[in-house]
Amino acid sequence: MSKLQDTMFQEIRNKDIFKQSQQYAFEYLEEIFNRNIYPTEDAVNDLSNFDEDLPTNTTKSESVLKQLNEYGKDATIATLGGRYFGFVTGSVVPIGLAAKQLGTFWDQSSALYATSPIGSKLEAVVEKWFVDIFNLPKQTCAGFVSGTSVANVCGLAAARYRILQKNNWDINKKGLRNAPEIRIVSGKHAHSTILKAVSLLGLGQDNIEWVDVDNQGRIIPELIPELDKNTILILQAGNVNSGAFDNFDMICDKANKADAWIHIDGAFGLWAGTVEQLKHLTKGMEKASSWAVDGHKTLNTPYDSGIVLCADQEALTSALHASGSYLIESKARDGLFYTPEMSRRARIIELWAIMRYLGKNGIDEMILTMHLRAKQFENEISQISGFQVKNDVVFNQVVVKCESDELTDKVLNTIQNLGECWLGGSVWFGKKVMRVSVCSWATTEADISRSVASFEKALMMNK
Ligand SMILES: *Cc1c(COP(=O)(O)O)cnc(C)c1O
Repeated sequence: MSKLQDTMFQEIRNKDIFKQSQQYAFEYLEEIFNRNIYPTEDAVNDLSNFDEDLPTNTTKSESVLKQLNEYGKDATIATLGGRYFGFVTGSVVPIGLAAKQLGTFWDQSSALYATSPIGSKLEAVVEKWFVDIFNLPKQTCAGFVSGTSVANVCGLAAARYRILQKNNWDINKKGLRNAPEIRIVSGKHAHSTILKAVSLLGLGQDNIEWVDVDNQGRIIPELIPELDKNTILILQAGNVNSGAFDNFDMICDKANKADAWIHIDGAFGLWAGTVEQLKHLTKGMEKASSWAVDGHKTLNTPYDSGIVLCADQEALTSALHASGSYLIESKARDGLFYTPEMSRRARIIELWAIMRYLGKNGIDEMILTMHLRAKQFENEISQISGFQVKNDVVFNQVVVKCESDELTDKVLNTIQNLGECWLGGSVWFGKKVMRVSVCSWATTEADISRSVASFEKALMMNK
């Protein structure tokens, strides 16, 4: 045995580094719900501690952990807590952290049943749960990927495969050269990852037929051009600024009559479809062909967790086809047929644990509470003169602005520096806005009031 092997076996036996890592993690949990949301300048400057050449010699594990903890923890963003409203980020349901911790030790690759029976089983179970809670067509299959960016690529790849196959064109063999034309129709407020997916798939952003949106960012149904069997129609559940939903019920009927492929980007918004009081927002979404949704946003799973759902299993698995003489196909689920990757960490573990823990009612309650906190924010901020809410708060997003672009910028900057809460800016119909996304299970009434107070203070400081 080499000396290095011997040391590593000792670490496994005495478990000191694991205990130390857990202790650091617990200390982090103790403070992160109350810490400043954004790292201090000192903490960010201290990151220079990581600027070192690759060491020549092996060092001690304890010192690696110590360095990581000492200079790493304070340069994290407090997304676990209740006052982070940036992007659409989400916290983590505690059982998700615990399950992930256990799963870390298992270190499973959920490529095949043969590489992880437990990964395969949990994926099969959760796939059914998704079909059930979103009321999707029975045959709908799921691929567990890193996020909606990849889920969008997968859904659109399935669309591309199916449309060309209907034209007797095998995209996998022939590629796009001289291929029949695929049309893409989308609302002007599509998420940037839709553009990325269209580029990656060689469909060309210039080929998108853009449709105007209304004042909430929803595609205007009457302006959707004539669709046909060679068209991919891209819709949205949850506009990234306003949280608005396209009118699926009406649009999907029309698109299905034309035999078009409908893909819904529902990164955070699709979850409205599980909540009794909110499901009117996603009415008719089950009539689409593919859907992309995140676990790591509204459902509060750990990063990274996205799901592609596809009613046309053959299209999805053909589009993402994998072959190799050494692949051991089994009767059970082999995850790699539903995703672009071969090796993937078994992110299904945390997704399963959180859904198993919350149950249908818990998911409902958690997501409805996010909506109610967003409404609370809307109410409280509207009462302060100098702030205007620019969207209908139908879900979890609140778009806020001040009297001028300049003031909005300054106030946002001050809010970010005050450290009480954190949110980002955006542009909404040509105007600078602040974008509040309520998507943490941990956001309480008090967190909202405290954050609104910080908005008010920031406005005063810039008057
Ligand atoms: C966040 C988001 C995406 C991208 O999802 P990732 O999980 O970050 O890859 C796509 N579409 C919408 C509407 C989003 O909000």
